[in-house]
Amino acid sequence: MHIVVLPGDGIGPEITAATTGVLRVASERFQLNLRLEEHPIGHASLKQFGATVQPGLLDVVRAADGLILGPTATFDFKDEARGEINPSRYFRKSLDLFANVRPARTYAGRPGRLGDFDLVVVRENTEGFYADRNMEQGNGEMLVTPDVVISLRRITRSCCERIAHAACRLAMKRRKHLTIVHKANVLKIGDGMFLAICREAARAYPGLEVDDVLVDAMMAHVVRNPDRFDVVVATNMFGDILSDLTAELSGSLGLGGSLNVGDRHAMAQAAHGSAPDIAGQDVANPVSLIQSTALLLAWHGEKSGAVRYEEAASAIEGAVAKAIAEGRATRDVGGRLGTIAAGAAIAEILQAK
Ligand code: ATP
Repeated sequence: MHIVVLPGDGIGPEITAATTGVLRVASERFQLNLRLEEHPIGHASLKQFGATVQPGLLDVVRAADGLILGPTATFDFKDEARGEINPSRYFRKSLDLFANVRPARTYAGRPGRLGDFDLVVVRENTEGFYADRNMEQGNGEMLVTPDVVISLRRITRSCCERIAHAACRLAMKRRKHLTIVHKANVLKIGDGMFLAICREAARAYPGLEVDDVLVDAMMAHVVRNPDRFDVVVATNMFGDILSDLTAELSGSLGLGGSLNVGDRHAMAQAAHGSAPDIAGQDVANPVSLIQSTALLLAWHGEKSGAVRYEEAASAIEGAVAKAIAEGRATRDVGGRLGTIAAGAAIAEILQAK
């Protein structure tokens, strides 16, 4: 399996180094024959090539079997004409990675703030309220006068259908429970359509239990009783916000892994940002990117029919759980290790099995 690795900004290089350490062990133990090809992205690429995403990189990624994107300094990148492309948006849009799968779970030895739970937020990734990706040309956020801004939210039938089916398929492999999160009482047309399409799609999956919750009420429900949820499907921005909350409820934002999936490509990416406040200090939790990479391996295994990739993914998840249970983890989840040592602990557990 050929994987392109883009370390990114802030804590990106640190958590990426910890992740590739785990991947190398997984490759050896499960004979994955991983080939990791690293390229600069974000500020490092801007400095070297005059663009945050260097010319030709998309072709390299398209030819590979998967992509790992470390967090990038999205907030710094404002002017595309000066090469300041948002790498996350660029790959999601260019590769049509329409589903953002964000699991959140608690771990033995590190109970959640609100009891144990295990859920997955499936977030639409290509349209919605994200002004930088919901237009064919230009930007969906407009300065009408110096004091008036209009931000467009785009919802399309085809995008609702494909995210609904992705969520239903995942729910069928889990506890067969789908929750649709929306704001159809106010956004009656857009979220009304999203809700109706999700409910319609779910009818094709026998035994799938479906409910729906207003996004504001969801904040209360998920804090009060997170274990009532299995797979949660949401439009882009609601899913983005909700999944940061569920990651934090699971113990730390640094546990939040995610996979961006399309029909042909997938990109592993931590759910959090580049965390400049803790960058370069060897304190960031690498689990977010390690778990994201496990999701990438599982996706590749399912797509190619090579079971050993799915076995490797489960083994990595098991090693992460064991490391956290033993307290061999970073400070945000109650341990005392640095980023590199926490990654090495997971790699060591993985190797020992
Ligand atoms: P960006 O502008 O790139 O989104 P940010 O700091 O605004 O960066 P996040 O990177 O998501 O947003 O960080 C939010 C908070 O969570 C910060 O206090 C950060 O230190 C913490 N955090 C994020 N990722 C991790 C991690 N992997 N381990 C520990 N703490 C983290």
